[in-house]
This record gives sequence, C-alpha cells and structure tokens, in this order.
Amino acid sequence: MAEIRSVAVIGAGTMGNGIVHVFAQAGHDVTLIDVQEDALRKALGTIAANFDRQVKKGAATEEEKAAALGRIRTATELAAVAGHDLVVEAATENRDLKFRIFQEIDRHAPPHAVLASNTSSISITEIAGRTGRADRVIGMHFMNPVPVMKLVEIIRGLATSDETARAVVELAERLGKTVAEARDFPGFVANRILMPMINEAVFCLMEGVAEREAIDTVMKLGMNHPMGPLALADLIGLDTCLAIMEVLHAGLGDDKYRPCPLLRTYVAAGRLGRKSGAGFYAYA
Ligand code: NAD
Repeated sequence: MAEIRSVAVIGAGTMGNGIVHVFAQAGHDVTLIDVQEDALRKALGTIAANFDRQVKKGAATEEEKAAALGRIRTATELAAVAGHDLVVEAATENRDLKFRIFQEIDRHAPPHAVLASNTSSISITEIAGRTGRADRVIGMHFMNPVPVMKLVEIIRGLATSDETARAVVELAERLGKTVAEARDFPGFVANRILMPMINEAVFCLMEGVAEREAIDTVMKLGMNHPMGPLALADLIGLDTCLAIMEVLHAGLGDDKYRPCPLLRTYVAAGRLGRKSGAGFYAYA
C-alpha cells in the first residue's frame, strides 16, 4: 500500500480538532472538513491554543507549532477529500449520517485511499457496506483529548484487508500512539465497558444515591480514575454518550444497556457538557 501522507478529517468538533492536531504535528498535510463554518473557526482556535500549551510545557517549539498550523486547510464540502490518502471521519455519532458521509466520500476519495471512522460504537462492517471499497474501510478510534491520550482502538470490519489494517496500525504508531485491536461488536471494547459505567453513574444521580461531586469523588479516590464519570461524560459530550448507549442497547438487545432517563433529559435540554457550556457541571 502507498504511504499515507495527506489526510482529510471530517467533523471539526471535540474529536476532529484533536485528530487534526496530531496528524499536522507528525508532518501530514491535513484538510479539516465540516458543514459548519463556525465549527471550523472554533477548531482552528482550539488547535492553536493547544499548541500554545505544548510550547509552554516544552513539548513543542514555536517553529514546530507554526509549521504544523501551516499544514492545516479547511473546507465545507465533502468533495475536499479528493487527493487525500486517508480520510478519518469524526462527525456526529449517528448511523444514518455516517452512512451518507461514507457513500459520498467513496465517490470523491482516490481509489487507493483508506476510509477510517472514529465512531465510538457504530458497526464498521455496516459503514463499509455503504462504499465500494469495504476492504479499505476501518475503525480508527482515537481517545479524547487526542493529543494527550495514548490509545487508538483499531476495529476491522468483516471485509477489512490485512494490508489496510497493517497500514493504519503502523500510521497510529508513527503518531506516537499505542494500538489495541478490537472486533466489530457494538461499542467495541472502550465503550462497551466505559459507557455502562457512566450510564450507571447517571442512574445514581437520578435516584439520589449521592450528589454529583460525591459520585465523582468515589470513582476518583476510590478507584483511582483520573476523573469522575459525570465529569468524563461532560468531556465526551452527553449527546455522544446517549448515542453510544442507544447503539449498545439496540445492538446487544439487553436491557442492562438502557440509557438513563436523566441522560435523555439533559440532552433534550441542550445540556451537552463542556461543548455547550453545561452538562452535569457548569463551564465558563
Ligand atoms: P461533536 O458533536 O463535538 O462534533 C461533531 C461535528 O461533526 C460537528 O462539528 C458537526 O458540525 C460535524 N458534522 C455533522 N454532520 C457533518 C457532515 N455531514 N459533514 C461534516 N461534518 C459534519 O462530536 P465528537 O465528540 O467530536 O464526536 C465525533 C465522533 O467521534 C463520533 O463518532 C464520536 O462517537 C466519536 N468519539 C467521540 C469521543 C468523545 O470523547 N467525544 C471520543 C472518541 C470518539
């Protein structure tokens, strides 16, 4: 397989900006695509601010920051995937949306390009089925915040070729990440385990088992988690958490995965966590 040099990232939200950051830092030309101009503008601001933080900590130089920012382009049309060797889709966690996006990018991306999804839970095999290149479709699941977190969960669909998997694993390792491979089941490994824990924390809050701070303190100090589950849900985005629980519930058919009604209420109210300014906690 030809070397992966240029990368297109679809979705300029919580994950998209971090994914662009690590690819640009590793020397790749990157095009960031979002349907919302505003999301693109915000993402560029976030990427620059995160590079500033790295410069302050001595993890990057001013020159490296300038060079990386110079490698980033933006676009509002999916047709901008043309000419790229790899597409990483990180749009909203919604099956139908992802199906439509893959159908369209399959038309515009060069035939050799690998199409990866950063989905947290949706079937890679089903996404791949929307394209004419199921052998070159794969799950490349980065963790939030991407520049900080070491893990990339790699998920092969039924038809993903060994060549594609090898190329994507090697690429992730060149980004300085550690890979764990998972099979294509709802939520893979990360969210099969993490999301029911978060959902249970929301049930504890709803049923009055404890206040939000107490729930998070128990898990931080009692289980040595770096953040409590409610604060983590705010970081992930409550809409994303709900979407993942729906996929687990529908895909595994077990009521232990039913989303907590309080999670639904928060999402309905637009309290999506950090990205909307309020979730279980309020953010400036
Ligand atoms: P987000 O809500 O922060 O951002 C989604 C972005 O996708 C938005 O900017 C939106 O405008 C854009 N978008 C929607 N439709 C689009 C389209 N047709 N074309 C281009 N852009 C479009 O979501 P996020 O948290 O960044 O999640 C993105 C993906 O990453 C999801 O699949 C999610 O499950 C996965 N993920 C999220 C996390 C997390 O912690 N948030 C972690 C790992 C993986």
